[in-house]
Amino acid sequence: MTIIANALQAVQANILQASLHAKHQQQVLLLAVSKAQSAEKLREAYLAGQLDFGENYVQEAIAKQTLLEDCNITWHFIGPIQSNKTQLIAQHFSWVHSVDRLKIAERLALARLTALPPLNVCIQINSSEESTKSGVETAALIDLATAIQRFPTLRLRGLMAIPAPTQDFEKQKAQFRIVRQALIDLQQSGFNLDTLSIGMSEDYLAAIEEGATIVRIGSAIFGPRNKQITSD
Ligand SMILES: *Cc1c(COP(=O)(O)O)cnc(C)c1O
Repeated sequence: MTIIANALQAVQANILQASLHAKHQQQVLLLAVSKAQSAEKLREAYLAGQLDFGENYVQEAIAKQTLLEDCNITWHFIGPIQSNKTQLIAQHFSWVHSVDRLKIAERLALARLTALPPLNVCIQINSSEESTKSGVETAALIDLATAIQRFPTLRLRGLMAIPAPTQDFEKQKAQFRIVRQALIDLQQSGFNLDTLSIGMSEDYLAAIEEGATIVRIGSAIFGPRNKQITSD
């Protein structure tokens, strides 16, 4: 077995274990975050059974998509979105986790071809106090969700967040609970949502305990990132 196949299997086992113990007992999708990793490494993970990959940089992702055209991969865009990249994102991905303003949603909706299935969208929320973090504030969430739901080429699936990093398991859980509560509030306002995209290599076990349905994991699968590849 390759190093990546081994790591993938270990992460999958941890996810299964955590989801069986989680109070919500939800299904959890492993999204392999492959930014700054070579197409060869993605192929290795794919051959070990990984089907969902997350990328942060549009040009880098498209280059890898071309090299992996023969693979049946579902591509997720998870990085900050510049408005001049919305057309490429709408054409080259099935999911976008990082929508945080109306202008971006609108541009994605207009660029998404009607021949394709609707683009799956998560709204990125700012769940920590730090004002520098990206993501919509809770107060503006319902307006953005309402707007997104009106676009037939978009399908609003849920929320994504990147809380401030901490090693403290209880603090990790407390931050994720805020995100889950925001999802529940939307559901109670009538939105039909099924996705909570929370948890990375350092905090996915806490995220699963608090109801994550997608965990986004990079370094725990692929090892350290190759900084030279990252670009946009
Ligand atoms: C890089 C990245 C991840 C994965 O981070 P790791 O710590 O390597 O697991 C997850 N989500 C987003 C939005 C990222 O940019």
